[in-house]
Amino acid sequence: VSPASHDASGEGVPTRDLTGLAPAARPARRWTPRRVVATPAALDHPHGRRVVDRVEALGIEVERLRANRLTGVRGETERETYARAKATLAIVVSPPSRRALQPIAPSADWRVDLAEGCPAHCQYCYLAGSLSGPPVTRVYADLDDILAGLAAYAGRGTVTSRSAARAGEGTTFEASCYTDPLALEHLTGSWRRAVEHFAAWDAPVQLRWTTKYADVDTFVGVPHAGRTRVRFSVNAAPVSERLEGGTATVADRLAALRRLALAGYPVGLTIAPIMPVPDWRRHYGALLDRVASAVAGLAGLDLTAELITHRFTPGSKEVLLGWYPRTRLEMDEESRRRRYGRFGAVKFVYPRETMTELRTWFERELAARVPACRVLYWT
Ligand code: SF4
Repeated sequence: VSPASHDASGEGVPTRDLTGLAPAARPARRWTPRRVVATPAALDHPHGRRVVDRVEALGIEVERLRANRLTGVRGETERETYARAKATLAIVVSPPSRRALQPIAPSADWRVDLAEGCPAHCQYCYLAGSLSGPPVTRVYADLDDILAGLAAYAGRGTVTSRSAARAGEGTTFEASCYTDPLALEHLTGSWRRAVEHFAAWDAPVQLRWTTKYADVDTFVGVPHAGRTRVRFSVNAAPVSERLEGGTATVADRLAALRRLALAGYPVGLTIAPIMPVPDWRRHYGALLDRVASAVAGLAGLDLTAELITHRFTPGSKEVLLGWYPRTRLEMDEESRRRRYGRFGAVKFVYPRETMTELRTWFERELAARVPACRVLYWT
């Protein structure tokens, strides 16, 4: 599926000089959904109406549904359903199950969802196997209630607030488990409101999210109180260029990281999914060198890294092969080690020797090439 619904400004543009202290912003790659629908329940919420206004102000028509059920997404074939769903934005109320937060180790104490689904086309997508049904992007209209509900979790750390390496973060909330915030922010305004909510909160808390987009204009100049850490998901060129359709280029993501760091945000790298592709040391070395030049000369830089190797489950493999039948992504059970999670669910990860080799290399090279960076975890 071609990412035709994205504008074409992202790829094929020469890499910007990342060493300038104030990189000029160029128009960000922005998703324009082909179909936007709003449920009646969503329109009962102020944020639902705000999102509708915002989308309409961008010249995109919003279809008001008669019922709270989303219809008209399935096509004749699985491929057609995928294409239709990926081009659809639904403004809905969050399912009640989402309002009881779940722990989300090792990234954060709690997972908070402001949306579900993503318009990009990563062939290893983490959402495959986690979400069921056609991959429609749903943004939650009951944002104000979701944010107000977080107060009950402050001070109830599950993971990060018990880790010495993360002292000072307070109770952490991860807002990108099932979506990519910067892919949707221009249509929703949800994450900016979340940044402001956390900044005004009278308790030690941190909002965090990770993204493969670079549209940070509306976050620069927002009062954030250092309470939001934005991480950019980056990868070696053979992975990002071949497997991450519809996202911003890594150069643009790193320029965005620099802009947010200049605006005083704590920032981070999510290096994921790490894959031992041919010549991986050279490719990941080049990536770390790009990171080093992106953060050069930044006073007071607060930069972390989360290192996550590629893994898949039987369910995610099946979904991904349905979405991307010609993918060249390696998902060979025979060359992997089985790791069993809670309730006996199996994940296929790299063998121990490969993991050790990768981990040793990343920890050594990050310390050497980007010494300001603190590694939060490896998995
Ligand atoms: Fe999936 Fe993340 Fe890629 Fe979106 S950006 S398609 S959520 S892996």
